[in-house]
Amino acid sequence: MEHGSLFASAIGVGVGVGIGLVSARLAGDPISGAGGDGRAAGAEVEAELRRLVVEGRESGVTFDDFPYYLSEETKLALTSAAFAYLSKTNLPKHIRVLSAASRTILLCGPSEPFLQTLVKGLAHHFEARLLLLDIAEFSLRIHNKYGNASSALVHKKSLTESALDKVSDLVGSFNFFRKKDEPTESLNREKNIFDMRTSNCCAGNTPSVRVHVSLLPSPLYNELEDSDDDEILVRRSWNLDEKILIQSLYKIITSISESSPVIIYIRDVNLLLGVSDKAHSMFKKMLSKLSGKVLIVGSHYLESDEDSYYVDDDVSDLFPFILETKPPTENTQLVKWKTQMEEDIRKTVSQVLTNVVAEGLSANSLECDDLDSLDPDDDFKAIANYLEEIMAPAVSYHLMNNKDPEYRSGKLIISSQSLSHGLRVFQESSLGKDTVEPKDDAKKDTPDNEFEKLIRPMVIPASKIGVTFDDIGALADIKESLQELVMLPLKRPDLFTGGLLKPCRGILLFGPPGTGKTMLAKAIANEAGATFLNISMSTVLSKWYGEAEKMIRALFSLAAKLAPAIVFIDEVDSMLGRRDQANENELPRRVKNEFMTHWDGLLSKTNERILVLAATNRPFDLDEAIVRRFEHRVMVGLPTSESRELILKKLLAKEKVEGIDFKELATITEGYSGSDLKNLCVTAAYRPVRELLQKEKQKEKDKKDNAVAVKEEPVTKDISQESEKENSETKKDMPETKQGEKDKSEKSVEGETVVLRSLTMDDLRQAKDQVGASLASESATMNAIKQWNELYGKGGSRQKEQLTYFL
Ligand code: ADP
Repeated sequence: MEHGSLFASAIGVGVGVGIGLVSARLAGDPISGAGGDGRAAGAEVEAELRRLVVEGRESGVTFDDFPYYLSEETKLALTSAAFAYLSKTNLPKHIRVLSAASRTILLCGPSEPFLQTLVKGLAHHFEARLLLLDIAEFSLRIHNKYGNASSALVHKKSLTESALDKVSDLVGSFNFFRKKDEPTESLNREKNIFDMRTSNCCAGNTPSVRVHVSLLPSPLYNELEDSDDDEILVRRSWNLDEKILIQSLYKIITSISESSPVIIYIRDVNLLLGVSDKAHSMFKKMLSKLSGKVLIVGSHYLESDEDSYYVDDDVSDLFPFILETKPPTENTQLVKWKTQMEEDIRKTVSQVLTNVVAEGLSANSLECDDLDSLDPDDDFKAIANYLEEIMAPAVSYHLMNNKDPEYRSGKLIISSQSLSHGLRVFQESSLGKDTVEPKDDAKKDTPDNEFEKLIRPMVIPASKIGVTFDDIGALADIKESLQELVMLPLKRPDLFTGGLLKPCRGILLFGPPGTGKTMLAKAIANEAGATFLNISMSTVLSKWYGEAEKMIRALFSLAAKLAPAIVFIDEVDSMLGRRDQANENELPRRVKNEFMTHWDGLLSKTNERILVLAATNRPFDLDEAIVRRFEHRVMVGLPTSESRELILKKLLAKEKVEGIDFKELATITEGYSGSDLKNLCVTAAYRPVRELLQKEKQKEKDKKDNAVAVKEEPVTKDISQESEKENSETKKDMPETKQGEKDKSEKSVEGETVVLRSLTMDDLRQAKDQVGASLASESATMNAIKQWNELYGKGGSRQKEQLTYFL
């Protein structure tokens, strides 16, 4: 159950039930919209089925280069089972051992994409054609393209229900549930504060519902139905006539198999077989009639660590050959496999949510092109859940902020941002408060998962950062613009909920090493009162190899808990470098994608106070897609003479100095970075210390010598006088030290005071001979940084393009 439950908790879907699409009761309404006439609809279905057929060779999946772990046993079992039906070699006619039922294989596995990839590999292997059929999705496609069936349903139901029908269609089953003690009044649609609804939305007093996207096999669904009386299970239908579907399928199969071997893959085949006796018997009949090079593969969802699985008799009757894909036993492979499975599940749910929302929007003449930018772990699920309530505020927000709204085929195109806004409004409404838990608080209370725990040590609370803008010399213009760009959205997210102003989600500081980029990042976090998550990606990648994607996920979930937060990535090029680099292997690519997904998610969450701040010395190594995501790219270059003067003043502000000519110092340190200047000052500051130590040593020695002399030759000399003389000599040695000045650095050696002298210009000049500039200002790297700045930096020639993208 690990993956299902892990994922379920990740997207907060609660208890899951049956992916087996048990609910799919095929309505008697044959593909409406195609004239309501069975035959005409059959032609449409056939045409659409034909569109799904692809050449196995073109699938791009081969067993030799299979993207998932695939054991030799599984491969052998699959190819052997398929051989008799797909091989180009014709079997001798007298071999008649093959029953109709063995033409079928039931593939069981924990992720649908994995099983589909497997069947693509099989099609490639046998150079067969492949028809991948996802009946639920197919049904939707037919409706969208030809039917008015969905609107026929919608006029009787609330929009959310109709949207949820689609979840049912897509994922399988789900439940509408309402806790027994949950007051229905608070959910009553008539209490919705928004009156801007279509007639569809207003119909009835149906309570709001919650989507429970489920990924467990259908039998568990039934168990749950019996066991948990807190949940109202609603079975939904999809409107596709099984007779038409199976007949059309048969026609397609026979026609294709005349010229080529063909594999028909039916996702969650129990959806079809379990739906009615008629479907089962028709499918059985079809199997018995099939001949030639045809293989039927059905898929069956199986939790990756389930010990045993349950297959309906209806299914096993027609699919007696059951092939269960096993996870690898070797640990590294297992880790990778689990990550892949989890990612697949994520994608599947994301796809389901996309379809649910798209459907709901479409029924209301709306369309959204960037649904994929919504995060299934967060807004997306809530939007799917409360689509009806969200739509009105989303539309008004969109129209208010777009003077020239776009329409396509009569549908208003709204952005995912508008939907998120609608959700925020709903959450803040009294209705929303009753129904949707405020996300942030819920997150904050969740205990850390194991990956978040690993990141915790890298977290610096704002109060412990210890760097302020005031500690940074020069860079006044950068400090000022960062104040505006970063601090304001972090401190006052409420000012950025309008249409034009969007909180900045990504800032890149680039420039030669040691110019104060990290300092700036820390100062920003400190002054904005934000938690600083200082992540070294090389550590993440090397230490938790294989788990790196989970680390990225945890990074963002932890940041959300600790918000306002700044995720700081130093040397970002090492993690988010170019994707086309020849040496890039799969993991960094996946890590990058994972990072971008979460980062994009932030864009749609105006109230999420998280900022990605990155620094690099090699901006030209960054991936273009990453560069685009940094709304602001600020060059922190080598300091000018005036800046050096300011930095030096800042660095020496707390030191005891005398006669420093800062102008001269700035002139002789041409090409020095802030960090070089710091090294210079540190080296210079050691000189007085070294002298002081030497003097102390000398004094010790003199005292010892004196003691010996006194012992050998007892004298009448006034010791106190001698001592006074010695003392005044010491003072002469240190002319800069003001008499009577006593501070922390004063040392007392048996009553004699030795004072640390002030830092002089001479110390700094001498130190300059030891500390040079670490990077020549005309070096190739420096020139490359400057060129990059011309193109992408603040005010650079590519900046305009980028601005229009983000605003
Ligand atoms: P980067 O991240 O650009 O490589 P850092 O911010 O780590 O550079 O700077 C290294 C050190 O150099 C800092 O700890 C600080 O002591 C010094 N430094 C760099 N720039 C400045 C500056 N503008 N003002 C004061 N100190 C600076």
